Amino acid sequence: MFEVVIGLEVHVQLNTKTKLFCSCPTSFNHKQNTNTCPTCLALPGALPVFNKEVLHKAIMFGTAIDATVNKTSYFDRKSYFYPDSPSAYQITQLYTPVVEHGKLRIDFENGSHKIIRINRAHIEADAGKNIHEGDISKVDLNRAGTPLLEIVSEPDMRSAEEAVLYLKKLHAIVRYLDISDANMQEGSFRVDVNVSIRPKGDEKLYTRVEIKNINSFRFIQKAIELEVARQVEAWEDGTYKDEIVQETRLFDQTKQETRSMRGKEEAADYRYFPEPDLLKAVISDEMMALYSKIPELPDEKMERFIKEYGMSEYNASVITSSVEMAKYFEDMMDEGISAKNATTWLTVELQGRLKGDMNITNTHVDAKKLGLLVKRIEDGTISGKAAKEVLDKLVEENLDVDGVIDALGLKQVSDTGALEAICDEIINANQEKVAEYRGGKDKLFGFFVGQAMKASKGSANPQTINEILKAKLG
Ligand code: ADP
Ligand code: MG
Ligand code: ZN
Repeated sequence: MFEVVIGLEVHVQLNTKTKLFCSCPTSFNHKQNTNTCPTCLALPGALPVFNKEVLHKAIMFGTAIDATVNKTSYFDRKSYFYPDSPSAYQITQLYTPVVEHGKLRIDFENGSHKIIRINRAHIEADAGKNIHEGDISKVDLNRAGTPLLEIVSEPDMRSAEEAVLYLKKLHAIVRYLDISDANMQEGSFRVDVNVSIRPKGDEKLYTRVEIKNINSFRFIQKAIELEVARQVEAWEDGTYKDEIVQETRLFDQTKQETRSMRGKEEAADYRYFPEPDLLKAVISDEMMALYSKIPELPDEKMERFIKEYGMSEYNASVITSSVEMAKYFEDMMDEGISAKNATTWLTVELQGRLKGDMNITNTHVDAKKLGLLVKRIEDGTISGKAAKEVLDKLVEENLDVDGVIDALGLKQVSDTGALEAICDEIINANQEKVAEYRGGKDKLFGFFVGQAMKASKGSANPQTINEILKAKLG
C-alpha cells in the first residue's frame, strides 16, 4: 500500500569551551545575558573569529561516519528575523559544508542491518532563547553563537522504528566521540523529522511535512506514527492534495497530535549569500591527520566484544549502546571477572534494580563495586543468591562490598577443616545410605550434598562440599 519516507535533521550542540565566533563561554545555567559580548550581541563593527576547535569536532564526526571531509569549506549568511537572533541572520554552511556523504549503520533486533546515508553535516551558530512569561516575552542571548553541527540524513528511513534506531546510533556516536553532551532535555541534541508517504513501488518523493524539535525518542516515534496516519487518511479520503502541504508542524504531546506551525520557508526567503566577514575554513594535512584520530565506536566495540568475549550479538549491542554502558562494562572487566557474569550482573541484576531516575551513572554502585561483587561470587566468598542480597543493599546505600558481606553474615564457609567435620557427621549419621551409594546408587550423592548444606545453614561453599564428599565417599 503505502511506504513511509523519513529524513532527519539533527542539531548537535558541540561541547566547545567557547562560542563559535567569539570567546564567550558556552556553559549553561548562567544568569541570563551574561555570557555575551559585542560579537554574539551583533553590535555594529564587531567581527567574528572562527573557533578552530569546532573544526576539530567536525572532522572527528566526519571520520566516524566515513564521510568526505572538505579541506576547504565556506560560511554563508541565512537571513531571518526573530527576536532571538540579534544580527537578523544566522551564519551557516549552505553551499560547501565541512562534511558530506557519510553513512551510518542501524541494527535491527533480528540481527539484520541497514545503511542510512548522511547527506551532510555543517557548522552553524545557534540562536538565543525566547522566554515567554504571561504577557511578557524576554530574550536570553547566552546561547546565541553556540556552535552547532547540523547533521542531515538522506530520506532513507522507512518507519518510525528505523528513524529511532538511526537517532539512537547517532546519539551514541557523538557521545562516544565526546563532541557533544547530546542532552535531549537541555536541547543539545534537537531533532527535526521530515515525513512523507508514497504508494509502494513509487520512486518519486511526495510532499513532506517537517515536525520540529521533539525532545525524546519516544515522542519522535509517536509523532511520526501520528503524522503518517494523518497523511494516509488524507490520501484515502481524497483530500491529500489540499491537506498535505509542505509546512512545519508541531508535535503536541498532551493532545497527541501534530499541528501546523508555519508554512515552510523556501530557500529564496532566506536570501543566502557568502558570509563576507569570515575567511574560508581550511583544514591542513597536519590537522586532518591529528583530528581524524577517533576513539573506538559502537560498531567496532560490538564486533570486538563478540570476538573477544564470545558475547551474543544482542548482549554486545546492549552493552555498546551507550558510551556510559560500555565504559561501565570495561571497568568491571578490570576486576578480572568473566564477561558472561559481568554482562548478567550489569544488564539484568543492576539495571533491574535501578528505578525511576536512577541509572548506571548516578547509582552508588559504580563499576568497581559491581565488578568486585562478581569477583566475590567467582572466588567462592559468597553464593550468587547471597550476592543478590548484597546488591539490594548496595543500591540503597553507599556502602562497600566486603563490608556488606560481613555485616549480613553471608560469607560462605570454604574452610575445609570445618566443612570436613560437617561431612563426617553426615556420613556417620547415614551409614545405610552410604552403603547404597557405594553399591552403585549414584543419585544419592545429591542427598549428601543437601544434608551438608543444611547442616551448615546454607553457608557452605557448595563447590567445596562437593569435593570433600566425593573424596570421602569414594
Ligand atoms: P531543507 O534544508 O529545506 O529543510 P533538505 O532538502 O535539506 O531541505 O531536506 C531536509 C531533510 O528532509 C533531509 O533530511 C531530507 O532527507 C528530508 N527529505 C527531503 N524530502 C523528503 C521527503 N519527500 N520525504 C521525507 N523526507 C524528505
Ligand atoms: Mg530543514
Ligand atoms: Zn560573545
